[in-house]
Amino acid sequence: MLNREYYIADSSRMADIRTRYKAHIAAVLKLAKIENADARAARIFDLETSIAKIHWSRADSAEAQKTNNPWKREDFSAKAPGLDWSVFFKAAGLMDQPVIMVWQPSAISGEAALVADRPLEIWKDYLTYQLLDSWSFLLPKAFVEERFAFYGKVVTGTPQLRERWKRAVDSTNYFLGHAVGRLYVQRYFSPEAKAKAESMVADLVKAFGQRIDKLTWMSPQTRAKAREKLATLKVGVGYPAAWPDCSGLEISRDSALGNAMRAELHQYRRSLAKLYKPVDRSEWWMIPQTVNAVNLPIQNALNFPAAILQPPYFDPEADAAYNYGAIGSVIGHEISHSFDDQGSQFDASGKLANWWTPEDFAHFQKASQKLIAQYDSYHPFPDLSVNGRQTLSENIADIAGLSVAYDGYRLSLKGKAAPVRQGLTGDQRFFISFARAGEISIGSPSCGK
Ligand SMILES: [Zn+2]
Repeated sequence: MLNREYYIADSSRMADIRTRYKAHIAAVLKLAKIENADARAARIFDLETSIAKIHWSRADSAEAQKTNNPWKREDFSAKAPGLDWSVFFKAAGLMDQPVIMVWQPSAISGEAALVADRPLEIWKDYLTYQLLDSWSFLLPKAFVEERFAFYGKVVTGTPQLRERWKRAVDSTNYFLGHAVGRLYVQRYFSPEAKAKAESMVADLVKAFGQRIDKLTWMSPQTRAKAREKLATLKVGVGYPAAWPDCSGLEISRDSALGNAMRAELHQYRRSLAKLYKPVDRSEWWMIPQTVNAVNLPIQNALNFPAAILQPPYFDPEADAAYNYGAIGSVIGHEISHSFDDQGSQFDASGKLANWWTPEDFAHFQKASQKLIAQYDSYHPFPDLSVNGRQTLSENIADIAGLSVAYDGYRLSLKGKAAPVRQGLTGDQRFFISFARAGEISIGSPSCGK
């Protein structure tokens, strides 16, 4: 299934993608030797369109307050009639879970109503197609090629399918990421690099705190809460302190698909087991061999995987201007997410809780409006502008992250003048390093959140 906008946007490009998508559904069914593929594909597409229409926009779905909807398990039948919820929860292993967070309530009630409204045969066709399409990257070659012809060429404009061995490495990373990561850090991430990166994080947290202290518009009450949140931020550098347990997962040589399905089920069961334990704020959500970083608001934590702690982002042997301009701005970016339009709504313990005075929050929102308007005015394509509201958190983090990295760089000089190297001042080398690292991130998002 595609993102909601593909089903509802009325541009000619989207209409063309919809036509090709219907052909893709039919092609997948034909490859699986399912009869009446074209007629079934039309009904599946119609059902997917109905589902897409009741889903929220991405911007709405990213608003933490709107998505904070705890429902009691026994309330689902009344709030979202149409689906046999007790059968659903039993199959999902959630019969003992008293409360469930419902991200988009109208989508849940809307889909449950669709279950009652549409014939069972259409749902069976839809689920058959979803199963085939979601695993097609591990099915025989014809499925892989059909998948790429649509999602690769049509949707994302990728000219060529990646080599098979690279796709195999991707799959192994996806399903056994931490097992691979453990070997990766043994070979490529030294204790010295970890210690150096950790000391940079400490410097940047300090610089960020000084920026909070300098905000003239922020009241002492809000400032104390912001300081508390910063002081309790849990920062993971390189790899997790405790590796996730893979025991019990069966891997065999005869079926890549079987391995992947067992790995997914294993992961699902691990997730269910967490329901009965306290929140683990040191849990990692990225694997060490990822060139990326992430802020985790509900853990008040950051992950900086080992693979981003290498050139051009980080070099333990390089001078401060190089490291602060590159990885420093990434670290600053991730710290800033704790205080962006979304992160600002979570407190030091990771709870969705307002810790701002009304005046301070109003000021913050008013200032954010200017940034939204600025990005709304950017047109990467003649018929398409940036959605400033949707990209607000990234834009706040980019700007604040660079600012705090620059402050961190100045602090690291401890009052001395920056050395001139190859005719370039410290400030020049800082911004050149920032630009180089930024250029690398194009095409592979620099931020997991
Ligand atoms: Zn980000």
